[in-house]
Amino acid sequence: MNDLNNLICREIKIDVTNVCNLSCPLCPDTARRTGRQQAPRLMSFEEFKKFVDAIKVFPEQITFGSKHEPLINKSIFQMIKYLNGKREGLQTTILTNLNLLGSVSDLLESKVKSVLIGADGIDQETYEKYRIGGNFDVVIDNIKLIQHYKKKINSEYPKLSVVFVVFRHNENLMREAEAFFNELGVEVFFRRTDFYKGFEDWMPLNFRCADTKINREICCAEPFESLNINVFGEVYPCCAEEIVKFPVGNIFEQPLDEVWNGVKMRNIRDFLLNKTVQNSGVACLFCPVYKNNGCTDV
Ligand code: SF4
Repeated sequence: MNDLNNLICREIKIDVTNVCNLSCPLCPDTARRTGRQQAPRLMSFEEFKKFVDAIKVFPEQITFGSKHEPLINKSIFQMIKYLNGKREGLQTTILTNLNLLGSVSDLLESKVKSVLIGADGIDQETYEKYRIGGNFDVVIDNIKLIQHYKKKINSEYPKLSVVFVVFRHNENLMREAEAFFNELGVEVFFRRTDFYKGFEDWMPLNFRCADTKINREICCAEPFESLNINVFGEVYPCCAEEIVKFPVGNIFEQPLDEVWNGVKMRNIRDFLLNKTVQNSGVACLFCPVYKNNGCTDV
């Protein structure tokens, strides 16, 4: 974990929209899970630029997409290109269902380092059991298109990977899926999730993540390493649904560094280090990560 006396925000996860084109049952979509209805919104390039220009200490990684589909925002490639111009060597990632690619040349020109694709099937039938509303063939065509153009311009970026969430219905497809995606030049990571309400009916019977978060020095490292930002600029220490009523700041109103070092973030860290049992950290009390002492797969 980060040096507690010199904490650096390693990763920012940012949602540049609050909508998604799919309806996955365990999706952490805030509106669906909390009933907190919001009008659809896209973060503008100008808002994003202002936020980036105010950053003093850049994180190592910026991931686009946490709870919603980032490729819905057509300014995303311009945002990534701007970031890469500001900070050489920055790790940029798009977390997507890849049903909506847009311009492949804009994607390549943005110089995004990696694209992480949520896909947990080997054909339309197995894919749409969880990725409701998605089209498996479109995803595969988009993977092939990106790989084709990367080869054409002799670029190794963006690296493509698939996150295959292992459920009860697809547990038997893991080896086949790995072979299928590897054939397309795509690495596969297997995950399972017990983070969001309703997971019990979906849990695989046998699969466990090798890196399940147990026996770590504190139960939750999130507020010590990263921040989540939503399309309204609100900042959170994590993506837990329990914490959505407790933003720790807003990047449209204050610089990121100020939020990271602010009193609300410090209160949450103190709470997790067992120094205090009140204030901003109270939302953690209801979170499965805290309740299970870190033993959860996300
Ligand atoms: S314990 Fe849960 S609510 Fe608290 S910071 Fe960690 S993931 Fe978020």
